[in-house]
Amino acid sequence: ETLDKGLEKSKSSFLGKLSKAVAGKSKVDDEVLDNLEEILVSSDVGVNTTLRIIERIEARVAKDKYLGTDELNKILREEIAGLLSETNSGEETEFSVPINKKPYVLMVVGVNGVGKTTTIGKLAYQFKKKGLKVVLGAADTFRAAAIDQLQVWADRVEVPMVRQDMGSDPASVAFDALQSGVNQNADVIIIDTAGRLHNKVNLMNELTKVKRVMQKVVGDAPHDVLLVLDGSTGQNAFEQAKQFTAATEVTSLAVTKLDGTAKGGVVIGISDQFKIPVKYIGVGEGIEDLQVFNKYEFVDSFFK
Ligand code: GDP
Repeated sequence: ETLDKGLEKSKSSFLGKLSKAVAGKSKVDDEVLDNLEEILVSSDVGVNTTLRIIERIEARVAKDKYLGTDELNKILREEIAGLLSETNSGEETEFSVPINKKPYVLMVVGVNGVGKTTTIGKLAYQFKKKGLKVVLGAADTFRAAAIDQLQVWADRVEVPMVRQDMGSDPASVAFDALQSGVNQNADVIIIDTAGRLHNKVNLMNELTKVKRVMQKVVGDAPHDVLLVLDGSTGQNAFEQAKQFTAATEVTSLAVTKLDGTAKGGVVIGISDQFKIPVKYIGVGEGIEDLQVFNKYEFVDSFFK
């Protein structure tokens, strides 16, 4: 229900465009496919993924020359869910962490402004609500504001946060946070990391060092590297995904601000292109406005 509300903009606009694309047409022909291609690209699905979807539909048209436009919704929905299946299990509906990893170490990466701090705060809130003990580590030490903003969330959610002064070594903060988490018998430790998009080598070095130092405390940390992307920035989000996946092994995605965009297609394109599952989506600024990504709900919210 909240998902539907959060995605209202994407949804109405996508369906609206789709119905325009097939207006006056009873069967799926080249013109309909051209229109569809345009809609998918303009919804930020991305060119490569759009072409894959169009090819799949063309294959169906080749089999059934009289494929009706009234079936297009259903077919698109199947094809998009199919694409998402390649990376997203899609079964998750609840916030959880594997019980055999304690503490579960989640390292969060992404550039400033995408909603990284907010996402960490919302996640801490959800995990805590599940009865898990959460510790935050403020390892984005480049800006004082980053540390202070995370502190605001830590206080709000009432979870401990490990911090050092601005400019201190991010790896050192991460080390302290993990040690503190282990000492406190934490279930989940969430580490914020550098939010500036400096050159690739620096980014890689910094993230590699943070990982290496964390492993001195928890041997197989981090268990998840979550890249936060702003879903309203379209091609920028693709570009950031490219840079971060080149710099470190990203294992999951959070796509934020899907409430404020008519371009929710970015979720489909990024997940497909980078073969990384989308774990969470942000649908507002409030503490409850983070959802576990469920591909069926997501696809349905587009086509209902
Ligand atoms: P950071 O610099 O990446 O840590 O970004 P912040 O977490 O400070 O968020 C930047 C702005 O985006 C803030 O005003 C947040 O309230 C807002 N924001 C974060 N996530 C969402 C979301 O899912 N939807 C909307 N509408 N705003 C969001």
